[in-house]
Amino acid sequence: MANAPGNLFILAAPSGAGKSSLINALLQRHASSGMHGNRMQVSVSHTTRAPRPGEIDGVHYHFVSRETFEGLIEEGVFFEWAEVFGNYYGTSKVVIEKTLQQGIDVFLDIDWQGARQVKAQIPDTATIFVAPPSKEELKRRLTARNQDSEEVISQRMEKAVSEISHYHEFDFIVINDDFDSALEELDAIVSARRLRKEKQVIRHEGLFSNLLAK
Ligand code: GDP
Ligand code: ADP
Ligand code: 5GP
Repeated sequence: MANAPGNLFILAAPSGAGKSSLINALLQRHASSGMHGNRMQVSVSHTTRAPRPGEIDGVHYHFVSRETFEGLIEEGVFFEWAEVFGNYYGTSKVVIEKTLQQGIDVFLDIDWQGARQVKAQIPDTATIFVAPPSKEELKRRLTARNQDSEEVISQRMEKAVSEISHYHEFDFIVINDDFDSALEELDAIVSARRLRKEKQVIRHEGLFSNLLAK
């Protein structure tokens, strides 16, 4: 997969830090500007957690039962999987391989355990840690999102500290204080990764053979 023309990105963050909002804004920006010709996709994970109001099966997640998920583990479907907040989450292998082969960049919104597994398999992956500007703001965002119960929010706040303790394992760190600034920073990381010689050589093979033709 390292030789594929597409780039693989991982965004990890404590829940509520804003990674889904950032990825969505980035995709929207590129889709509407036509700048990168829709050459980015978010990988849709499988999960055993229940859908939140407004979440659509196959769009936000593939929602499956524990039994189904365990079956998929057995079959070796997952590129990485982890248990987070008592639920299974996993990324399937085939879709990512195919998408990267097509030259489309893939974004994984996964936790630190998944990030570690992916980085070990594909060291070329750019791993990005998104941090909130403060604990208070993280709590405020989790509450304002209004999608989880009081109990789930406290549980996620507790887990936040353990997620944050892994920040030094990542290649890039973005502090999501002002949203637009964080989005610019994320975009800059994506551009820099795309412009690496290793990727440009694959993408522009034809161009260089033309430029060098006698
Ligand atoms: P969120 O934190 O508000 O996005 O809540 P979710 O319930 O959607 O995700 C909970 C945690 O599971 C987050 O830390 C996600 O990054 C992580 N997660 C989601 N999908 C995957 C996956 O496919 N693999 C792994 N390892 N973690 C995942
Ligand atoms: P995550 O995917 O990391 O769990 P979300 O993207 O769902 O986080 O963001 C959590 C909440 O915080 C959402 O309601 C979102 O609109 C809000 N949010 C995200 N980034 C910012 C920011 N920079 N400033 C203020 N609110 C934000
Ligand atoms: P071309 O390959 O013709 O230069 O670029 C076509 C489009 O793909 C352009 O909009 C360009 O910005 C975008 N692009 C260039 N490099 C990459 C890359 O490495 N990955 C992805 N996904 N898009 C790229």
